[in-house]
Amino acid sequence: MKLILRGHHLLCLKGFQGYGYDDDFVKNMTRVNELRKSEKTTIQLTNSPDDICKACPNLKDNICENTTQNTNIISMDNKVLKHVDPKIEYDALKLFEKVSRIFDSKESVSKICSNCSWHDKCLFYQNL
Ligand code: SF4
Repeated sequence: MKLILRGHHLLCLKGFQGYGYDDDFVKNMTRVNELRKSEKTTIQLTNSPDDICKACPNLKDNICENTTQNTNIISMDNKVLKHVDPKIEYDALKLFEKVSRIFDSKESVSKICSNCSWHDKCLFYQNL
């Protein structure tokens, strides 16, 4: 199984504990979160709508919320993609090990998603 994931969603998945924009979103993200923990899964990275966005009520005409928000989101993706290569199809488990090594402090994560409104629900951020 191959997942397509935005760069910043690697961090969101690490902190996911069942919250989201609506039931469909949570159901889909829960599925993606399970798949990324399987040794049979590979991941292709992107800075555009992905397998999580496709069930998101904020995605309209391939844009996240509005043009300003969309630009911010792409910028977050690109910051993560400086550390991991979107041209490589990664083994999911190895990719998340790599991400854990790169983003191992609140400082390193804050550079990506300091303005995220989900911090209080993000286990990854809280446990750093
Ligand atoms: S559309 Fe925007 S808010 Fe929804 S999952 Fe994608 S990046 Fe997140």
